[in-house]
Amino acid sequence: MFEEVEVKEPITLEAYDREAYLTSRVSELRAEAAKLVPRLGPRTVWMISSTSHGGGVAEMMPKLVSLLDEVGVPCRWGIIGADRAEFFALTKRIHNMIHGQASGPLDAHDRALFEGVNRRNADELAKHIAPGDVIVIHDPQPLGLGAFLRREHAVRVIFRSHIGIPTSPEPTREAWEFLRPYVEACDRSVFTFADYAPEYLKGHVTAMQPGIDPWSHKNRELRPHKLMGVLCNAGLQSATSPVLTPAFEHRVSRLDGASRTRPSDGCEDLGLLFRPIVTQISRWDFLKGWEPLLLAFARLKTRGSHMASADPRHARRIDLVRLILAGPDPSSIQDDPQAHEDLRSLLATYRTLPAEVRNDVAILTLPMHSRKENALIVNALQRCSTVVIQNSLEEGFGLTVTEAMWKRLPVIGTSASGLQRQIRNRVDGLVTNDPRDPDEIAHNLDVLLADEHMRDAMGSSGQRRVYDHSLVFNQIRAWLRLLTNAVA
Ligand code: UDP
Repeated sequence: MFEEVEVKEPITLEAYDREAYLTSRVSELRAEAAKLVPRLGPRTVWMISSTSHGGGVAEMMPKLVSLLDEVGVPCRWGIIGADRAEFFALTKRIHNMIHGQASGPLDAHDRALFEGVNRRNADELAKHIAPGDVIVIHDPQPLGLGAFLRREHAVRVIFRSHIGIPTSPEPTREAWEFLRPYVEACDRSVFTFADYAPEYLKGHVTAMQPGIDPWSHKNRELRPHKLMGVLCNAGLQSATSPVLTPAFEHRVSRLDGASRTRPSDGCEDLGLLFRPIVTQISRWDFLKGWEPLLLAFARLKTRGSHMASADPRHARRIDLVRLILAGPDPSSIQDDPQAHEDLRSLLATYRTLPAEVRNDVAILTLPMHSRKENALIVNALQRCSTVVIQNSLEEGFGLTVTEAMWKRLPVIGTSASGLQRQIRNRVDGLVTNDPRDPDEIAHNLDVLLADEHMRDAMGSSGQRRVYDHSLVFNQIRAWLRLLTNAVA
C-alpha cells in the first residue's frame, strides 16, 4: 500500500552554481527562496503520486523533492498502492477518458473502488502528517486521498494535474465530473496549461510547465565512450530483432575501442559509423501513436512516401535508417496495466511488415530495476539518434520532447495540444497534423532526414528554448510561489 520513496539526489545547487551558464538560474531561485521560504514555516510538503518509475511524473519527482528540500522546504514523496488490481485499470480508463480516448460510464461501483483504495492510502499517510502540512496530489489516481485528508486533518491540499486537453468532448467531461468532489475539496489546482482544466475550475487554476534537470542521468552530456558503454552493457531486451544487429554491434565496439584511445574525435566517429536513427521512447500506450509511426517507417523504407531530395545519397540514407521504439518493461509499471496489451498490439503490427523493414526496427523494453541505469540508457539512445519523434495522439506536455530538444536534436511532434505548444513548427522541429496518418509522418521523416542543415538549426533553437523556459529551476520557483499562496 502507501509507501514513501527515498530520494537520493547527489547534485546540489552549489554544483549547478559553479557552472557559468546556470549561475543566473540558480541565483534567481535562491532570491525567490529567501523571500518565500520564511513565509512557509516549518510545515512538510508531501508529494503524492501513483508510481515511482515510468512516465513524466516519476521522472520529475526526485529533483523537485530534493531542490525544495535544499532551499528550506521539507519535502517528501509517497506513492499510493492498490490492494485491488482493478483500481489502476479504472484510473487508466479515467486517464484515457480525460484525453477523449475512452468512454464511460463511470458508475457507483467505480466510485466505491476509487474511494476504497484512496481511503486505505489516506489512513496510512495520516500516520505521518502533522497539522499545517501541504499534500500535493499528482494526477487523478490519489485525488480521493487528498479530499479525505483535507476534510479530516488540518492540512492544505493542492491538485497538480499533468494531464488534460483544451477541449471537452463527452468522455472528458464525464471523467472530470466523476472527479469533481475530490478536485473541489482541494485548496488549489494546477494544470500544465490553464485551458486543460475542467469547466468547473475555469478561472481558478494556476498554470505551471514541467522542467528538466540538465544534469540528471537522463540529460547530462555523455562522452562517446560512456555512451557506447551504456548501450553495450545495457542487456537490452528486444521484443523484435536483436537490439544490436551484428553489423550495428560491430560498429559500436569499433567506436568504443576507437574512442577510448582517441576520445576527442569520438563524436566525429559517431556520425561516420552510425546509421541514421529515428527514435521514439515512451510508455507503451496507444496514445503515444506507436502503430502509425511504425507504419510510417515502413512506408518511408519502401519508398511509398515522396522522396524529399533527388540526391542519391538521400536514397542511401533512407536505406540505412533504423527505427528504435523503446519503452519501460511493462511488468514493472504498477499504474499502467494496459501497457502489455498495447505492446502486444504493436508487435502484431510489426509482424505484418516485410522482412526488410523488420530488420531495421528494434522494439526495446528497457530494464527498470535501476533508475540510474534506465535514465542512462534513455539518454544514450536519444543522443545517438538523428531525429527524435513523439507521435502522440494526445499529450498534455511531452517531457521526452523537452529532453530531446535539450540534447540539440530535431524533433517531430504532433498537433496534440502539449506538443504543438512545445515545438515551434519548422523552427525547433516539425509538427505532424494528423498523427494517425502514416503518409504525413513518413513525409516529415523524409524531409528531416534529407536536410542536415535544417536538423542542426532546429536542434540549436530547440536547445535554446529549453534553456529559456524548461529547466527545473524555473519550476521550483513556480512551486515556491504556489505553496506560499496555498498556505496564506
Ligand atoms: N521514460 C523512461 N524510460 C522509458 C520510457 C520513458 O525513463 O522506458 C521517461 C522519459 O524519458 C520521460 C518520461 O518517462 O522523462 C515520459 O514523460 P512524458 O511527459 O513524455 O510522458 P508520460 O509518460 O508522462 O505520458
